[in-house]
Amino acid sequence: MNVLPTVLITGASSGIGAVYAERFARRGHDLLLVARDKARLDTLAERLRRESGVAVEVLAADLTQRTDLDAVEARLRDDARIGILVNNAGMAQSGGFTEQTSDGIERLVTLNTIALTRLAAAVAPRLAAAGEGAIINIGSVVGLAPEFGMSVYGATKAFVLFLSQGLTLELSPKGVYVQAVLPAATRTEIWERAGIDITTLPEVMDVGELVDAALVGFDRREAVTIPPLHVAESWDALEASRLGVLSNIRQAQAADRYRSAG
Ligand code: NAP
Repeated sequence: MNVLPTVLITGASSGIGAVYAERFARRGHDLLLVARDKARLDTLAERLRRESGVAVEVLAADLTQRTDLDAVEARLRDDARIGILVNNAGMAQSGGFTEQTSDGIERLVTLNTIALTRLAAAVAPRLAAAGEGAIINIGSVVGLAPEFGMSVYGATKAFVLFLSQGLTLELSPKGVYVQAVLPAATRTEIWERAGIDITTLPEVMDVGELVDAALVGFDRREAVTIPPLHVAESWDALEASRLGVLSNIRQAQAADRYRSAG
């Protein structure tokens, strides 16, 4: 009997999610793969069963559609074998804010934030009750950089980081590990899907390198893993600075500089 937890991976049909699937299969975990493209998931599942001898199930779902999302949430709530959620499915968008359609914005925000949050919320109570388990949320360094000109996408990824940090504070005392992974440009289909020519990017990381580095952070139980960040201390300094801002907030009075007009 497999004593390792089953891993549910969203967006497992390509890119980062497909590599997570391969790596967790190699580690001996059974898998539940989620994405829209069932044929691609079936092909991957067949290969991983053959190569790694693990059980791999496929659940086709469009996570922007309520009934599909409900079905994945139900599995996370009810299937006690699932002990790790990789919240990876996501999309990007090209063009500036004024060029985006309302429907496109809604789809992006729904997939990158609402679906991700609902899935985490579906599994967290069960993991907390068990006192073990993990949630991996895939954010992006774009969430740190309004300067990159991907305002809605970046905002969704800032949300993912904030949510992950909050969940770490809430769930780690209950034995549940939450990891935010922040890739930078990584060679996957996301660029083409968003209508961005990947060859215009100055530097791109290989997807295998990205996931392997993220899993080093996972094994170390890091709260925030940023594979392309070469000076780890700069993240620590950013966090210290943020806490410094909080320590300067006095809730009852406006700051002196706002006490007179002009
Ligand atoms: P990708 O190759 O395009 O993979 C995206 C995955 O999400 C696919 O499996 C896709 O499968 C699935 N997906 C898309 N829309 C979906 C929907 N409505 N419902 C369910 N599944 C859906 O891109 P990727 O780079 O691996 O992206 C994975 C994550 O990494 C995303 O959250 C992305 O924001 C993040 N990220 C990527 C980069 C990068 O440079 N590649 C950088 C930072 C962060 P189907 O089409 O079969 O549904």
